[in-house]
Amino acid sequence: MNKKILLPAFVIAALSVINPASAQFKLNTKTMSAAEKGFKSVTFSDADAAKLAKEAVTWMDANNPVAAENDPYSIRLRKIFAKHQHEGGLDLNFKVYKVKDINAFACADGSVRVFSSLMDIMTDEELLGVIGHEIGHVVNKDSKDAVRAVYKREALTDAASSQSGAVNAISQSQLGSFAGALLDSRYSRKQESQADDYSYDFLKRNNYKVTALASAFTKLADLEKSSGSTRTKSEKMLSSHPDSAERAAKVMTKAKKDGLAA
Ligand SMILES: [Zn+2]
Repeated sequence: MNKKILLPAFVIAALSVINPASAQFKLNTKTMSAAEKGFKSVTFSDADAAKLAKEAVTWMDANNPVAAENDPYSIRLRKIFAKHQHEGGLDLNFKVYKVKDINAFACADGSVRVFSSLMDIMTDEELLGVIGHEIGHVVNKDSKDAVRAVYKREALTDAASSQSGAVNAISQSQLGSFAGALLDSRYSRKQESQADDYSYDFLKRNNYKVTALASAFTKLADLEKSSGSTRTKSEKMLSSHPDSAERAAKVMTKAKKDGLAA
């Protein structure tokens, strides 16, 4: 990954124009000290990735404005994904962050977090496409690889000094940095492309318009074009994805071939 995420990832570009009054997504991105010593002996399982991702998400939930269950954003998201709680064999849980950054991410533990500003600009089917892409990263184990890479790189001191060979929990004081590093992770182009394929198949399998994935990318491309140096950290995440216009074109080519677009 050389992309972003903790999974997270989708992101997009700037949109402070859209919702200037809302809060900005918060992360603690101070660099953690690296101490890889000892990591080699650690066996990293799917369960470890899920556990660490859950800790990071719990931290993000506690430090960002989460929409209440009865908030219109939460209600809308719940409705959109009502039939897809177990997509990809995962046990998904959803929350909305009421922030101005445009982003969404899914984590190895099944947590899906969608930023309200992304919901403001996307239709329901476009959100299914964008979030389907994020779920694809989890199903494809990109998320697990990301957690592992960050865990190793950021090297939790405790883990490095552990003699047990087990993955340790992250201390409270390190969680913010860990979450930030995860969000800063980057996926490879191949991983991105495969996550796009996953989303396309997800839409197709459920009889949604596959072209919604293309229109979502087109919207992101427009945002990228209009965003300048004022982009926030998470907004830059998106820029690490392959070119959005290119991705939109690829989806359309595929849709035409499948007889799903004119
Ligand atoms: Zn991605």
